[in-house]
Amino acid sequence: MLSEEIKNKFTSTFNKNPLVVRSPGRINMIGEHTDYNEGYVMPAAIDKQIVCAISANYNHKCKIIAYDLDDSFEFDITNFKKSDKGWPNYILGVVEQFQKRGMEIRGFDCVFGGDIPLGAGLSSSAAMECAFAFGFNLLYEHNLPKLEIVKLSQAAENEFVGVKCGIMDQFASVHGKVDQIFRLDCKTLEFEYFNFVLDEYRLVLCDTQVKHSLASSEYNTRRNECEEGVAILQKRYKNIHSLRDVTIEVLTKHESEINPVTFKRCKYIVEENARVIDCCDLLQKGDLIGFGENMFQTHEGLSNDYEVSCKELDFLAAKAKESNMVIGARMMGGGFGGCTINIVKIERLDQFINYMTDAYKNEMNRELKTYVVKIENGTSKL
Ligand code: ADP
Ligand code: MG
Repeated sequence: MLSEEIKNKFTSTFNKNPLVVRSPGRINMIGEHTDYNEGYVMPAAIDKQIVCAISANYNHKCKIIAYDLDDSFEFDITNFKKSDKGWPNYILGVVEQFQKRGMEIRGFDCVFGGDIPLGAGLSSSAAMECAFAFGFNLLYEHNLPKLEIVKLSQAAENEFVGVKCGIMDQFASVHGKVDQIFRLDCKTLEFEYFNFVLDEYRLVLCDTQVKHSLASSEYNTRRNECEEGVAILQKRYKNIHSLRDVTIEVLTKHESEINPVTFKRCKYIVEENARVIDCCDLLQKGDLIGFGENMFQTHEGLSNDYEVSCKELDFLAAKAKESNMVIGARMMGGGFGGCTINIVKIERLDQFINYMTDAYKNEMNRELKTYVVKIENGTSKL
């Protein structure tokens, strides 16, 4: 088992017993690109995680072993800067956030590793930050509530790593619950859990293994386009602060005042927020088929109106839909690569994976990676 391996590596290296904590990766069932529009998302934590074995060492020096990379990093807790290696920055950023808040962190020894694929859109970075933030919090008895762990981890990624991620990834890693997904209101940070028991289905991620370079520039363009739409509507409606406050009726009424591309972007966001709300009602009724229908529509919107998909994601989403082995499928995450998420009929699980793998190979000439995931509890001590 992963946690045993990490713990054994720690004890054989440092000759003492560590505190062992874990923090999971995440999926987002529905609510894509809505976070920075103060809208709704519906994530969950998964059964892939970062495990961190850690112990205080009573000096200034910190030694970290990245088990999966067979790499290590040492630094002085009183004096450190960004590392060229990349991976240490997710930890240094968390240390810095504790220090910025006036909470002491002394020297530590640590081994960490995990089974979340890196850079596939399952937020291995947030899992790392949350595992360390949770670990430091226990080790140095700072008694931070869960929400502070979330915010501190997000700040580490924003400020030290330099990635302008929203709060969803860290929120899901920390607040996940087994067999439940939650609706997070990205404006108020209120959240509500909904049962998501998949007796007759399995969740499968199909990893395109591509990452088109457009992703970050188009992300900024989308943010600007959404703001442009809001600015136009704000002139008429004082109570509109973001696309979250806009209904499809209001948007359509002013279509002629908005440039057609901006209109399409805004339409997608307004519809996507409505879909999340609809999905909550459907889950309360136990209607997974209806939930899956919304996922198909989300994909259409992301591909045609928001235009953040790519040929690989469109191919996988279309193949899944026409296979009749799924009840819902869509691209997940920012777009231009990463994974599709699929709700697959359990009796077709193996067949689906083979079918998708063969199709991707034959028609796109690419290797497909697939992950079957379960919904698990958030960050915890082991
Ligand atoms: P994502 O969060 O979607 O997985 P990111 O690019 O945001 O992708 O974060 C991936 C980075 O996080 C990796 O390049 C690496 O620096 C770090 N990381 C994640 N998991 C591990 C791990 N198990 N060991 C070492 N570094 C890791
Ligand atoms: Mg990340």
